[in-house]
Amino acid sequence: MNEQHTRRHFETAAIHAGQEPDAVTGAVVPPIHQSSTFKQDGVGGLRGGYEYSRSANPTRTALEDNLAAIEGGRRALAFASGLAAEDCLLRTVLKPGDHLLIPNDAYGGTFRLIAKVVERWGVAWSVADTSDAESVRAGLRPETKLVWVETPSNPLLGITDIAMVADIARAAGARLVVDNTFASPYLQQPLALGADVVVHSTTKYLGGHSDVVGGALVTSDAALGEELAFHQNAMGAIAGPFDSWLVARGIKTLAVRMDRHGQNAGRIAEFLTAHPKVVQVYYPGLPTHPGHEIAAKQMRGFGGMVSFRVAGGEAAAVEVCDRARLFTLAESLGGVESLIEHPGRMTHASVAGSALEVPADLVRLSVGIEAVDDLLADLGRALG
Ligand SMILES: *Cc1c(COP(=O)(O)O)cnc(C)c1O
Repeated sequence: MNEQHTRRHFETAAIHAGQEPDAVTGAVVPPIHQSSTFKQDGVGGLRGGYEYSRSANPTRTALEDNLAAIEGGRRALAFASGLAAEDCLLRTVLKPGDHLLIPNDAYGGTFRLIAKVVERWGVAWSVADTSDAESVRAGLRPETKLVWVETPSNPLLGITDIAMVADIARAAGARLVVDNTFASPYLQQPLALGADVVVHSTTKYLGGHSDVVGGALVTSDAALGEELAFHQNAMGAIAGPFDSWLVARGIKTLAVRMDRHGQNAGRIAEFLTAHPKVVQVYYPGLPTHPGHEIAAKQMRGFGGMVSFRVAGGEAAAVEVCDRARLFTLAESLGGVESLIEHPGRMTHASVAGSALEVPADLVRLSVGIEAVDDLLADLGRALG
């Protein structure tokens, strides 16, 4: 990674890190190297280290260098999806007999990967309230090798004090991974707060336009970075050249998009708080949110995700989702367009009946960057 970019401001690194104009043609935007293999100048004579695109591809390298710079890490790796990145991390740092501590409101797909797949290979896991130091300490075992934190969490927008959990994990000889998907590196930098690894679904805010599925791991530990890179190549779930290019394109506008996502979400959270049909609003920007002070300390904004509970239970929550027009009824998040969904029946159906079950009357919004008055009007109508 180019050292000079790490010293530049976030907005500048997001546009320039890893994105130098093409050395041969001067193309200002690094090209999509849609090639599986690279000509060698004599056996083993690689140009720029490239031989085969599973091992490395210049478009993916451009994205990975950018991701390392904007997360303040030393090494980043780009994957075919967020879950592919998580799988690579789990299989790199855990082995049979190890234990993993996970949060009580993790993304449903993360829970499914751990509880239904990784467990079958002899890795034990248990659940803690990661916002509570005592709960984290009580959950640790001598075999604990990894502590998983998601903050803000999906879908309940819970806030965990990253520096606090980093201290507890380090003292116990375990690594800390933070899923930074909801905040994005613009709002929160977990490595600087003591995390060993950051995981992203680049499908969300980093891509930012709901047109690509991808994932990433970023670490400031060079040795761990090497181990992850070995496993990425050995297991093969890499981001392709076009997908890498789309994510890099999205990152260039991340800062301005996150500012607008946060402004719109703040207005919507206030509107919902005052609405008679809304029982509870989950948004870390609200002073009444239990994690508000920690969020204000470790984030530079509160993000674009808002969840709320509807009076009248599950049927009423589903009806709000069905009646929205400008908010598109769809899974996923982090794109420029606003989305609405019912976590219990959609994104989080896989946690039903577990310790991670979500309330049935919950609605989740991914607030986009449209004009906020249009969004407020749509929500007002959908709530009736
Ligand atoms: C979407 C998501 C993931 C999984 O990412 P994919 O790209 O869908 O595989 C992981 N964590 C969080 C918080 C997510 O929102």
